[in-house]
Amino acid sequence: VEPKKHEKPKKLLPRPPIVTVMGHVDHGKTTLLDYIRKTNVTAREFGGITQHIGASVVEHNGKKIVFLDTPGHEAFTSMRARGAQVTDIVVLIVAADDGVMPQTIEALNHAKAANTPIIVAINKIDKPSAKPDRVKQQLADLGLIPEEWGGDTIMVEISAKTGLNVDQLLEMILLVAEMNELVADYEATPQGVVIEAELDKGKGPVANVIVQQGTLRRGDILLFETTWGRVRAMMDHLGRNVDEVTPSLPAKILGLEDVPQAGERFIKVDDERAAREAVEQYMEKKRQQEMQAVKRTSLEELFEQMEKGEKPVVRMILKSDVQG
Ligand code: GDP
Repeated sequence: VEPKKHEKPKKLLPRPPIVTVMGHVDHGKTTLLDYIRKTNVTAREFGGITQHIGASVVEHNGKKIVFLDTPGHEAFTSMRARGAQVTDIVVLIVAADDGVMPQTIEALNHAKAANTPIIVAINKIDKPSAKPDRVKQQLADLGLIPEEWGGDTIMVEISAKTGLNVDQLLEMILLVAEMNELVADYEATPQGVVIEAELDKGKGPVANVIVQQGTLRRGDILLFETTWGRVRAMMDHLGRNVDEVTPSLPAKILGLEDVPQAGERFIKVDDERAAREAVEQYMEKKRQQEMQAVKRTSLEELFEQMEKGEKPVVRMILKSDVQG
């Protein structure tokens, strides 16, 4: 199903940046996300606790920033492997006492490969053993030259534990977002990506998604790669029922036929039948590809086993295949 062509000129408007925090284990990813959520999510006025929706929406100086809740490069790479580029900015966190470690370099390479802007957060600056200059030197050796040394990598010295300079980090995120002119067409055909999904006993398939283009509305018919559905209900990050969700923002959606996989993309389509048929076609194609793969491995196995003089069993199973 092709997205509908737009007769109208595109109306591109700014959208919030989507950020992933990456770095070596124990360098403070979770602590930083917790601190930011605790201090910047306006859940109190709603009187509620924030919902688990796969991403957090925080506000700084009246501007929104979306943080993916799964820190680390696993989520980042599994999304990319499916062709879904969700992250706009990577915050690379490096503990000032530990310095650059193997997973720091891995994260750096992933961000570079995806061409995603990097902001470095040098963490645990409150520790007496912190050596921020050593970290800067290590990073410079890897090609990330700090601004203060004439390079173009923003580095902020923070303490995720005490909150020191975390405000400044958020400011830098907004600055980089502005420099990169992150925009979306709010009136385009709604599309986005699944960040996580599960089967809820009572609610059925539940998908946490991020809208990337257009405005997603309750009642929209959505085509995913492996499923489809009509959005029966939507919730925002504060658990409120909402009727529409704009670009960059996460939503929990109900009403899908099946549970999609993380990284699957979706697009709004006009009718249910087309959506159902597209999914059936996709699944059929996948089944055929899988059967082809099985056939190939079986034949390879057959040859191998014949060489070893173990012919009988495999030959019987494959008789029809070989004939065909
Ligand atoms: P992650 O594995 O990257 O998510 O790291 P965590 O957030 O779990 O942090 C690992 C440990 O470092 C925890 O014991 C944190 O309390 C501690 N930690 C994190 N940030 C700071 C910090 O800024 N200062 C200090 N002193 N400890 C920190």
